[in-house]
Amino acid sequence: MSSIADKIQSIKGQIPKTVRLIAVSKTQPIELIQEAYACGQRIFGENKAMEMKEKYEALPKDIHWHFIGHLQTNKVKYIAPFVKLIHSVDSFKILKEINKEALKNNKIISCLLQFHIATEETKFGLSIEEAYEILSSKDFKDMKNVRILGVMGMASFTFDNQIVRDEFKYLAEIFRNIRYDFFLEDIFFREVSMGMSGDYQIAVQEGSTMVRIGSSIFGERNYNKD
Ligand SMILES: *Cc1c(COP(=O)(O)O)cnc(C)c1O
Repeated sequence: MSSIADKIQSIKGQIPKTVRLIAVSKTQPIELIQEAYACGQRIFGENKAMEMKEKYEALPKDIHWHFIGHLQTNKVKYIAPFVKLIHSVDSFKILKEINKEALKNNKIISCLLQFHIATEETKFGLSIEEAYEILSSKDFKDMKNVRILGVMGMASFTFDNQIVRDEFKYLAEIFRNIRYDFFLEDIFFREVSMGMSGDYQIAVQEGSTMVRIGSSIFGERNYNKD
């Protein structure tokens, strides 16, 4: 079996240099994150607030922690002091809470709007209507402590690559429309977070700027330890 370093090298060889690799370390032990860190990986993705906080405290401080899971309002305070990017803004309520906690920490927190692009019911995410409602509101315009950098989405879990490709195309289109309608003058609005272990090559072909890859780097997750 090849090492974590080999796997990261191999993935980096398959994506353009401009696409960022988020190593999704959820459920993985500190030692495996250290192994990825030792070969130069600096961006890690987690989906539980307390787990991310514990790992932040235990690991080198030049790691960029990206939050990629559904975030509850009462958990924002645990990650606000150090989080680099929240990929998973799926309601106005959570964005307001992030803004509030960012203000307390005297910082601006970068966020992505998560869209529901899969046919499956279970995935979190905004609809186009909800996103437009947020972005056109006065409440949003008054928020000084969040910065929207782009969009995020998860494709359906299916072996039908055409379905996956169509969903990624749709997210890329949402990104272009929102940029045109709200962020035309904003150089920060440029990220499309899409692609996981099973579908990142397709995501990159469809315009991903950040791929979130877990099992192809660290191996299968053991959820029993949760
Ligand atoms: C777990 C997770 C990933 C990584 O999934 P893999 O299939 O292990 O690469 C990516 N994005 C989100 C939102 C996740 O929860």
